[in-house]
Formats: sequence, C-alpha cells, structure tokens
Amino acid sequence: MNLFTEAIGGLAWTHGCQRLCCRRGNGDDKASWAGPCARGWVAAMNQMLVLRAGQVFDGERTLGQAMVVIQDGKISDLDTSGASPPEAAEVLDFGPDACLLPGLIDAHVHLAFDASAEVVTSLAACDDGALLYHMAAAAVRALHAGVTTVRDLGDRNYLSLMLRDRFPSTTLPHIVAAGPPITTNGGHCHFLGGQAEGETALRAAVAERADRGCDVVKVMVSGGNLTPGSQPHESQYDLAALRVVADQAHRAGLPAAAHVHGAQAVADAVEAGFDTLEHVTFFTAGGVDADPALLDRIAASGVVVSITAGTIPAGPAPPPAIAQRMAAILANHRQMFRAGATMVPGTDAGVTPGKPHDVLPYALRALVEQIGMTPLQALRAATTIAASAIGLAGPKGRVAAGADADVLVVRGDPVADVGAITNVQAVFRAGLRAR
Ligand SMILES: [Zn+2]
Repeated sequence: MNLFTEAIGGLAWTHGCQRLCCRRGNGDDKASWAGPCARGWVAAMNQMLVLRAGQVFDGERTLGQAMVVIQDGKISDLDTSGASPPEAAEVLDFGPDACLLPGLIDAHVHLAFDASAEVVTSLAACDDGALLYHMAAAAVRALHAGVTTVRDLGDRNYLSLMLRDRFPSTTLPHIVAAGPPITTNGGHCHFLGGQAEGETALRAAVAERADRGCDVVKVMVSGGNLTPGSQPHESQYDLAALRVVADQAHRAGLPAAAHVHGAQAVADAVEAGFDTLEHVTFFTAGGVDADPALLDRIAASGVVVSITAGTIPAGPAPPPAIAQRMAAILANHRQMFRAGATMVPGTDAGVTPGKPHDVLPYALRALVEQIGMTPLQALRAATTIAASAIGLAGPKGRVAAGADADVLVVRGDPVADVGAITNVQAVFRAGLRAR
C-alpha cells in the first residue's frame, strides 16, 4: 500500500456523499487518484536523491544544466559545475530537454469546492467526512500538476487545517489554511460558517482562527458572485471594521487576505493594511470602473494582488457576470502590473467547472498572454514571489540549498514557452516522488 492510500484509506470507508460526481461514479474516486502514486517511485526519507536536467529555473533565473541533491525532504545542494553525483545517491536524470523548477504555488484555492456548475449545492450535500475525502482528492490533483503549495482561502469547519495536519506532508501539497472566511450575516459564502459582524464578534472570529492554528485570516470585504443575493460591487464591511480585523490578525502574527470586487472594498482593504487583495475586479453594478489613482496606490503600497487568472483550455465559459467584464478587468490588471504592483496567480480553483484544482499551470499562460508578463516573470510570480506573498519565502518557491524539496520537472523550456509548464514529467513533494 502506498503512502497516499494508506493515509486516505480510513476516509474512503466513511465516504457516502450525494455529490453528482459520486453518484455517477466518474468523479475523483479512489482508483483515479491512487493511480499515479501506485506507479510512482518512493524513496526512503533518509536516502540521498539526485535530480538532473538540462535546465534549472531556481525561482529567479535559469541556470542551464544542473544537479539538485535532496536529503531528508530538503534540497541540500544545487550544483551547476558538472560534478558527478555523490556515490551513495539514487540518481534520476531527466535528460537535456527537461527543465527542473520549484513546485508551483497557487495563492487562492478552495479545496472544499468541487469545480462543478453547482458548488454551493454540491457542498451542502456532503457531510464533513465525505467533504474531507473530496478535499484530499482535490489536493492530490493539484499536486500531480506540479502545484506543491496551495493557500486555501475558504473551507467549512476548518477541514483544510485537518488535511494540513493529519496527513503525511508528502502525500498532499503544502496547505496554507484560512479556515472559514469571515463574512457578514447572510453575506458572501456565509454557508461556510464564518459569519461575524460588529467589533466584538470580529475580534472573536480572528481570535478563534488564531487559536485553531489558521495560517491566514480571510475576509469577504465585498459581496461575491457565488452567493445568491450577494452583490460583488457592494462592500460588506466598512473601513473601521476592516481595521479591527487586520490589526487583530497582525497582532496574532497572521496575515490578512481580502476578497474584494468593488472599488470601495479595494480602497478600504488597502487602507486597513490587508496583506493580499483577492480578485480586485473593480466591479460596478453593470460593469467595471477603476480610478487610475487607486491602481497606482495599490502598486505603490506593496500589497500583493492575487489575480484570479487561469481556466482550462476549451473549458466552459466563465459565468456571464465575469465574461462580460473580462476585458475591462484584464486592462486594469495590466495597468497595475505596468505600475509595478506585486502580482501572484490565485486561481480560485474549485469554484467553477473551468477551474479544476489543477488549473494553475494554465494561469501562467494567462499571465503572459493577458497581463503582459514575460514567461520568466510569470514563473517568478508562481514561485518566489508567491512564496513571499503567502509567508513562505525561504522554504518554498525556490530550488536552492535549504529549501523544501518541492520540485517540478517538465519537458521543454518554460522560460522560452511558458506552455511547457503543462508537460509534467515528475513532481516531488518534500523529496518524495508524487508523480
Ligand atoms: Zn475564492
């Protein structure tokens, strides 16, 4: 029995949800996600492993041919001298056409959403045991695409923390978890259970997240598209409330992430000192409108803009409210990028059928084609810059001595053609091969 089926096996027996994918039997069932593990190669944790490829992107730049030495789940050496591997090492040479790079980081996912056309209904049909099973499968799906770290910005009942803490770290991506997002009574994603209004309740909500061990505090500052009755262009909290949340989160040592669509919500979140802005679409009731001065202010403030880039090729069209605004949203994102904003891809994976949990590699192409990044800038955005944005600079997002051995190997040169990022040859998580 491999590590993953061993880890997940107990959950499979409790799995009896009424989601369509389960009833049809064509969803993310145990057989489909156990497959890649079963044919994978698993090393003993203390064995020295050497990976070789014709090119290495280390999170900042390309280095040509190199050898990466892995031990105890970490990268112990990156050698570009052409030296021979240590004698005791197991050597995997992926050849001159392969590129080795840091595992990718998705700054905004929802493992609890199943990427169906009815995620809210689907979620309601699952009890927590079944939901945890689906979340694990979603996380494995991301890992197999080379996404070795995900930041989950909204779950139910803190289940993403359970995944993070109770499963062997090598079987799933590294999970940065927000727990249920803080929202107003009946507000956006209220069904996830994070309702809090007024200073006392907001302070209690942040304290609860800190006590439970959340990595980040997520707030629905504006309404959203997913929730019936919620208006994305309207703010849910005023500036004073946002200051309470951001200050309390920072005092607890946690960063704060703001879901923002309307311009007022964006401006208030920046003013209140949130660390990352999610979506940043500048929705109005009928379209999109961004004050150029606010775009410049975002760029100058250093706040991280996590943009909801990426859909699978030839997938279903985005929801009409997004589709009709897309050109204007992208124009503003391009403007922020040109103005020097720190930008990372946060796909919102799981939220619609076009965004399954392995969608992030396609977001890199979108950063190039729609935002105007070079392939190198897009690769940095999804590795070193993303790691820094979510508080993991150092261990994540780079191929360097001392970093976690979360490594992606692709065929081709993603620096020349970022589309090569989807030609996955191998994925390593904490030094163990996941694919
Ligand atoms: Zn989201």
